[in-house]
Amino acid sequence: MANFIEEIIEKDLAEGKVSEIITRFPPEPNGYLHIGHAKAICLNYYGTAVKYNGKCNLRFDDTNPVKEDDEFVRSIIGDVEWLGWKGDVYYASDYFDVMYETAVKLIKKGKAYVDDITPEQMRAMRGTLTEPGVESANRNRPIEESLALFEDMRAGKIADGALVLRAKIDMASPNINMRDPIIYRVLKATHHRQGDKWCIYPMYDFAHPIEDAVEGITHSICTLEFEDHRPLYDWVLTEGEFENPPHQYEFARLNLERTIMSKRYLKKLVDEGFVDGWDDPRMPTIAGLRRRGYTPTAVREFCERIGVAKANSEVEYAQLESCIRDELNITADRVMAVLNPLELVITNLPDDYSETLEIENNPQDESKGTRQVPFSKRVYIERDDFAVVPPPKYKRMTVGANIRLKGAYIVNCTGYDEENGEVVRVYATLIEGTKSGQDNSAVKAKGVIHWVDAQTAGDVTVNLYESLLLPYDGVHEDFSERLNPNSRVKLNSKVEKSLIGVQPLKAFQFMRQGYFCRDPKTGEFNQIVSLKDSYKK
Ligand code: ATP
Ligand code: MG
Repeated sequence: MANFIEEIIEKDLAEGKVSEIITRFPPEPNGYLHIGHAKAICLNYYGTAVKYNGKCNLRFDDTNPVKEDDEFVRSIIGDVEWLGWKGDVYYASDYFDVMYETAVKLIKKGKAYVDDITPEQMRAMRGTLTEPGVESANRNRPIEESLALFEDMRAGKIADGALVLRAKIDMASPNINMRDPIIYRVLKATHHRQGDKWCIYPMYDFAHPIEDAVEGITHSICTLEFEDHRPLYDWVLTEGEFENPPHQYEFARLNLERTIMSKRYLKKLVDEGFVDGWDDPRMPTIAGLRRRGYTPTAVREFCERIGVAKANSEVEYAQLESCIRDELNITADRVMAVLNPLELVITNLPDDYSETLEIENNPQDESKGTRQVPFSKRVYIERDDFAVVPPPKYKRMTVGANIRLKGAYIVNCTGYDEENGEVVRVYATLIEGTKSGQDNSAVKAKGVIHWVDAQTAGDVTVNLYESLLLPYDGVHEDFSERLNPNSRVKLNSKVEKSLIGVQPLKAFQFMRQGYFCRDPKTGEFNQIVSLKDSYKK
């Protein structure tokens, strides 16, 4: 079934209103992109431009020099390309001349005026939803005077904030956005691309429609908060006399359970050191997800599954996880890693015993082949795969039990060593004739556990992750009071030999543990996602 954006586009194409679909993704370069932006990119690029054989511009909405940075520009291009976008890059700041000329045109038409209103007065005179606003004394300033003052603003003769240019629309409009909004302000700041060429900067609502018009955008798709700004969008294009004006359509933004989805707050996490940077694997940024081991296909699949709607809602985090889990279930090789190691000594093997086992990389997919896994007298097993006093129905190791070491033999657990009340070593004997694949004994095992050969194991650091934020407890609204102290747990773990030196970001299933890959920066292993839904309530 077509979503409402597709319905609009198909109608416009059928009626010949447009011949080529041109959309844009217009981030402000004031931070790294997050998973919400991925939704906007997928909609504008895959869902629209690619689907209808058009194009999608990446346009930096760099009209506010104070918050913008080239680092953000570079990261955004990298992230958008990682998602598979192809197209041309534009900068709104390249259109400052057109914006300036449009402003002059509005003044000349009597549709804009220079005012000396302060932000406080602006607020006080704006009115409310039920009361009209108050007209400024400068509203009917002669056109010549406004032109001269606007020129002074542009020439740097006016202090920051002393004068503004306002659109002259309607102070009694039921839509507060139409009550003579500010369209230009004085700001003596250096722009990341324009340097000191400008000391006046356009406001978003004035700049955005012009940017769309200059690029010939046909469908300007944005999030619902901008619905009430659409009349102003249309007003700027009409009064600015742009031909073939673009049209704005609004869709519901992505809200993800327990996830901060605002560059401003994400920047706070970075600046205040709550995380290791914008690409910390716990961050909901595209850079964080990449480093965590998410793939572009999984992110796209997520955007497909959540769909495009006109009403806001919150998506469960588990939905994002199931997309990467479903993909890795097919693509990732199975290997063995022991996250919390406990030594197991096989007492009936000679000290120098060693054997190489051949183990399948994916039992559900023969085409994935096999690998060589060393086995010897001492192996590591998972600490919680042994219990001195087993709980009922325990299927793992306990004294007296027969347990299969995955891909190897059945062993019989015979005892353990304890130091200061902690189990430090477990003993077992290997049962002859029980080798995996060649077992024709009648011996039964209670369960199967994974293990790693002690002699050849690799020592690695493994990072387990939980949500950055604790669930909302009804009291702590502010995210800085809801930070989860266990969002990252570092473990000293053992991995099988085949994992030593594997390439970063190549995903593996650590059997019975989850999906992991090596971090490209630290070389540690990051948990991509657990095997089962960990966010289930
Ligand atoms: P933020 O508050 O995170 O900075 P923003 O909307 O101010 O978000 P922009 O850089 O202006 O950030 O966003 C670029 C585009 O991405 C916009 O068209 C915006 O509508 C879209 N977008 C931003 N957040 C989301 C979201 N959570 N879901 C869907 N689209 C989003
Ligand atoms: Mg913004």
